[in-house]
Amino acid sequence: MNCVVCKMGTTVLGTTTVTLERGVTVVVIRHVPAHICENCGEVYLESEASKQVMEIGEAAAKAGTVVQIQEYRAA
Ligand SMILES: [Zn+2]
Repeated sequence: MNCVVCKMGTTVLGTTTVTLERGVTVVVIRHVPAHICENCGEVYLESEASKQVMEIGEAAAKAGTVVQIQEYRAA
């Protein structure tokens, strides 16, 4: 797909590290599958990965976790 940020690059499938903050909670999820722009580095998560990342963040926030670092696992 074409990058909507720089409108010049095309995206390639790779992995990225996602950091979420919810109040006092910080969640770092490594190796999340994503489309990454070859030109500007903008990251596009697929809807499934994005949804799962949000769920992990919500669960950590509810549990009152301060810092959580984990690997991404596909559902
Ligand atoms: Zn771009």
